[in-house]
Amino acid sequence: MIIVFDQISKSVYFLVSRSFDSNITFIKSNDHHILIDTGTGLYISSLERELHDLGSSLSSITDIILTHSHIDHIGGVIPILETCSPKIHLHRAEAEPINRGDMSHTLGDTFGADLPPLKIDSILDEGSTLDFGEVKMRVFHTPGHSEGSIVLEIQDTGILLTGDTLFPGGSFGRVDFPTGSPEKLVASLKRISEMEFDIGLPGHMNAMKYNAKKSALTSFKLAKTMFRL
Ligand SMILES: [Zn+2]
Ligand SMILES: [Zn+2]
Repeated sequence: MIIVFDQISKSVYFLVSRSFDSNITFIKSNDHHILIDTGTGLYISSLERELHDLGSSLSSITDIILTHSHIDHIGGVIPILETCSPKIHLHRAEAEPINRGDMSHTLGDTFGADLPPLKIDSILDEGSTLDFGEVKMRVFHTPGHSEGSIVLEIQDTGILLTGDTLFPGGSFGRVDFPTGSPEKLVASLKRISEMEFDIGLPGHMNAMKYNAKKSALTSFKLAKTMFRL
């Protein structure tokens, strides 16, 4: 099966992952070439090929935004750093430990893939905005799957990047990793279900192209029931 980027809007492309990798979103806006999440890094050469088809390349990446720092999202940063020096953005709760040399949030240990130390250049908080010319984003802190999980709104597009917080079909991120919290996840899903968006791009599984808001409400209700909250 050949997997390629699916064009979601004028400048937003979405790649559904293989196996354990996270999904990857690519955005081209003015001179900015942005990745949201990077996979494990195991399939970096096919990512390079797919970026090439979109008139980009790994060495052209200017910004990497991580929805959180689990290894299946952050792993690809390491090979990309060998080709260029993109600005790396991550929520404070996971960026600060990483900048102190504590890589435990990545779960590299658990999955037998220790990552070398890394520097996070841009520390995100609730309400942070990112300006990439035509494309502007807003950060919503949505802990629960992990303490530093965020969702990203791409302004004026109706697109919400939901990381491992919200998945399609009533699904949601697991809470049994360190810093996971069922209470926080349910509160985050409630918040997402009250946001205005048309398309949801999750960290795993397929895009929510239709009824994304309804899907968020279903996930919230199922999580609330499952965790008896
Ligand atoms: Zn993930
Ligand atoms: Zn995760």
